[in-house]
Amino acid sequence: MLVVMQEGAGEAQIQRVIDRMVAMGFTVHRSTGVIHTVLGGVGPEKDMDPIELEMLDGVKEARRIASDYKLVGRHFRPGGSVIKVGDVEIGGPAVVVMAGPCSVESRDQIERSAEAVARAGVRIIRGGAFKPRTSPYSFQGLGEEGLRMLRAAADRHGLLVVSEVMDQTQIEVVATYADMLQVGARNMQNYTLLRELGKLRKPVLLKRGISATIEEMLLSAEYMLSGENYDVVLCERGIRTFESATRNTMDISAIPVVKKLSHLPIVADPSHGTGRRDHVPALARAAVAAGADGLLIEMHPDPDNALSDGAQSLNPDQLRELMQQLRAIAPVVGRAL
Ligand code: PEP
Ligand code: MN
Repeated sequence: MLVVMQEGAGEAQIQRVIDRMVAMGFTVHRSTGVIHTVLGGVGPEKDMDPIELEMLDGVKEARRIASDYKLVGRHFRPGGSVIKVGDVEIGGPAVVVMAGPCSVESRDQIERSAEAVARAGVRIIRGGAFKPRTSPYSFQGLGEEGLRMLRAAADRHGLLVVSEVMDQTQIEVVATYADMLQVGARNMQNYTLLRELGKLRKPVLLKRGISATIEEMLLSAEYMLSGENYDVVLCERGIRTFESATRNTMDISAIPVVKKLSHLPIVADPSHGTGRRDHVPALARAAVAAGADGLLIEMHPDPDNALSDGAQSLNPDQLRELMQQLRAIAPVVGRAL
């Protein structure tokens, strides 16, 4: 159930509507916008007529929401959400680039990565310390030691940190070092993890599952918003199709589709989307042109010797060149970089 309050509705009116909704059995999520306050009610909407709420003082409109993603839906915040990671805003006028190696490998590797990332004008460094690898025999990440190295390198270069959390037991340690927690594609439907992240008050980067529909991704985000963590950024990272020329098929169309269906920002990961560094710049440019709020890009100081995802990692020069191209493209679609 969605209740849009009239422009200038008073606090007492809003509270009366909330009380009424709670009495009807709804859990109420409030979004206070510049013009309108919107109340999202999760509960027995099938059993009640929206007119009962529409008749209350100060209510502009009340209606049922057909989809299951009530809080993630665009109607909940028609103007879109801006998610703050430190002092960086994702979903605002600027396209936000996050870049760094797939994994934190050593003090020297992450230091050189941070230096290159900062030099390219990127504000957020990525790097996994807990790695979801397809094979149990592949490098699994350095764990907390890797997070410590990542944080130290980021701090030396004035960067913010995004890093992956694989299960709920890791939330505390990742949240200690990272400014934003990444949920990887393989965990998009780890509902225990999503529920726990719903209790966290830190932004989450939710990557689309390898075979997940857009609706499934939105419902996964709904798990966190329903726990009152509204700071979720979605990420299109390519999906599995019959095509074998690329590691995944980068679903650029997910960007405008998500923009229409949801108020949450969406970024694109052309590194996992293509699996090949020679194709990454083209898909990065396409994503920005399609309206992505940001990019997640793998960059390694020595990609050919990376412990994970080297083939899809740009080198520092390639990242700098890409940033230059994106600075030219962003204004064409009304954004800055
Ligand atoms: C990653 O970002 O390094 C990663 C493992 O991505 P994904 O979960 O999209 O495969
Ligand atoms: Mn990777």
